[in-house]
Amino acid sequence: MGGADQVSGTRMVANGGGMEENHSGVATNMPIDAIINLDHGDPTMYESFWKKTGDKCTVEMKGYESLSYFSKSKSLCWFLEPKLEDAIKSLHGAVGNTVTDGYTIVVGTGSSHLLHAVLYAVTSRDQPNQMNVVSAAPYYSAYQEITDLVKSGLYKWGGDACHFDKNEPYIELVTSPNNPSGVIQEAVVNREGGILVHDLAYYWPQYTPITSALEFDIMLFTASKCTGHAGSRIGWALVKDKEVAKKMIKFMEVATIGVSKEAQLRVANILQVIADDSKHFGSPEGENFFEFGQNLMKKRWEILRETLKKNQLFTVPKYPFQRCNYFGDDTQAHPAFAWMKCKEGIEDCEKFLRGHKILTRNGRRFGSDPSFVRASMVGGEEEFNLFIDRLSKIQIGDKNEKPNANLE
Ligand code: PMP
Repeated sequence: MGGADQVSGTRMVANGGGMEENHSGVATNMPIDAIINLDHGDPTMYESFWKKTGDKCTVEMKGYESLSYFSKSKSLCWFLEPKLEDAIKSLHGAVGNTVTDGYTIVVGTGSSHLLHAVLYAVTSRDQPNQMNVVSAAPYYSAYQEITDLVKSGLYKWGGDACHFDKNEPYIELVTSPNNPSGVIQEAVVNREGGILVHDLAYYWPQYTPITSALEFDIMLFTASKCTGHAGSRIGWALVKDKEVAKKMIKFMEVATIGVSKEAQLRVANILQVIADDSKHFGSPEGENFFEFGQNLMKKRWEILRETLKKNQLFTVPKYPFQRCNYFGDDTQAHPAFAWMKCKEGIEDCEKFLRGHKILTRNGRRFGSDPSFVRASMVGGEEEFNLFIDRLSKIQIGDKNEKPNANLE
């Protein structure tokens, strides 16, 4: 298995209640030799923040509530809960990462659902050939799978946008900050008739400096990466062109007759809570979610860089300091994934790390080469600690070691 980031065939095993101490002296419930699965990007690292919020984030629903397919929304998106619409607008307003005035909000079962809807909405049954869907490598590995899943007559995967030279219509998926590399991206094809879709799943202050309020034609966001509520499966699109929005809504109507009201109301509450607290900086209670998230990511990245410096086997990208309009100071990116490159002598970085019981995603899956891997930085604390512990034990001499082939 291995499509979207959350999907994975292997789970870690608990140690039957016994505590073990790892190399860095950190107490852990995980066996010291547990397989560490960093292949997926399951954002459970924010759990301790949400535990602290107590009942503020609890949503209860009575048996008679939300029975209807419809919501009481005046929005073009007839299944969008008004509370979710309000919360999305307040959150973007408070963070300043995008403009919402003049946009139609379309809610989806995660932004994965919205990607399917976008591809349907921007193509036409009357076009003679399938539209090419491209994205600059290294691109999010699920794009190719989503595009080719049903072998649509409307669109097909066209590969790396940097090498797209056909004189044909295209859709370019621009992920910024990028999954897997964390860098800020712009469209690369730049040809007339091209349709741009901006996937802004990680354009939040805990991951990257917020340098401007973006105003692209189609922008995708997801609660999965913003707040870590991947299990609620809520994503939203901000769409400038009403006709495109209408077609996306039609797609949702036919595919799923809308989106779960329970999930929408839960996420509405969560987004409103973080929007309301997002202007309180430096409070001792630590109630600002983005401050909490940024501190945690920063700490993890410092530890990772320190460890990689010592073992000299892998490199990770450097990110520039930029003015963050949200925090009001110069900050650096702390991406949700580490895009790691093996130093010379290791051809297949994923295989090498698998030999050390660390599961990552092979660079090939992102249209790149196997000397790269993507490792999740957003998992649980113990998993991260064990990852660091394991990395710190890998020696230069291990380069030629035979990988353990029995882990899958
Ligand atoms: N886009 C990007 C760039 C992602 O990384 C992800 C999740 N890994 C998604 C879209 C899909 O997110 P979801 O379906 O959970 O909203």
